[in-house]
Amino acid sequence: TEELLRKSDKLSVAGQLAAGLAHEIRNPLTSLRGFLQLLQNDMKGKQHYFDIMLSELDRINFIVSEFLVIAKPEAIHYKKSDLKEILQTVIALLDTQAVLCDVELVLEFESEIPELICSEMHLKQLFINLVKNAMEAIPKDGQIKLTVSIQESDLIRIRTVDNGCGIPEERLKQLGEPFYTTKEKGTGLGLMMCFKIVEAHKGTMTIQSQLGEGTIIDVFLPLQPDDQDRIDMP
Ligand code: ADP
Ligand code: MG
Repeated sequence: TEELLRKSDKLSVAGQLAAGLAHEIRNPLTSLRGFLQLLQNDMKGKQHYFDIMLSELDRINFIVSEFLVIAKPEAIHYKKSDLKEILQTVIALLDTQAVLCDVELVLEFESEIPELICSEMHLKQLFINLVKNAMEAIPKDGQIKLTVSIQESDLIRIRTVDNGCGIPEERLKQLGEPFYTTKEKGTGLGLMMCFKIVEAHKGTMTIQSQLGEGTIIDVFLPLQPDDQDRIDMP
């Protein structure tokens, strides 16, 4: 619990920062991008510089978008949804990429899952982030398995297991900290976003890992969240 509390403190501070920052950054970015594209036409032979500038702008924009999800949990809209459909969509979205990396994506339901009050868009984002991380952790030839089950009659557990590189024990506590990444092109915001989304759904997320063996990430979502006030009913 202490670990969980510590994480939510961090999230709210980062959230406040992000909310202000994201809005201030986005508008000038859009206008910069437009003028760069205009200039591009008068600067033949300098194409390469423009490509770099545009892709750097897109990177800033991407980071700001990730930040916005973290900063604006109040923008989440909840309605009754089918978790099976949500997860099937996620698998379908990532399947081509998985085939290219020689990774097998498996989705298994151990029990019937009743409809869940949730934000479809955010749960998709959550599992896209988790499966992408799992794919990026697998150098070649791996498996990622999502198993859905009911625990203690009122908790849905979605377990993501990969046989990727794993995470050293001393790094586990850093997961979910903003900007913690081990990837050259990483943002280190994906897991933080995941924690935020799970938290908004009154759930919890735990990470277990064995270096060189793989990683298990459990998302627990309550079927009947007790704090109903924060939830817009359909
Ligand atoms: P990013 O993917 O941009 O690096 P994330 O917040 O999604 O940022 O992940 C942070 C770090 O956590 C990753 O850089 C990686 O080191 C580690 N990580 C996350 N998921 C896994 C996984 N399934 N297997 C191994 N390492 C992982
Ligand atoms: Mg990631």
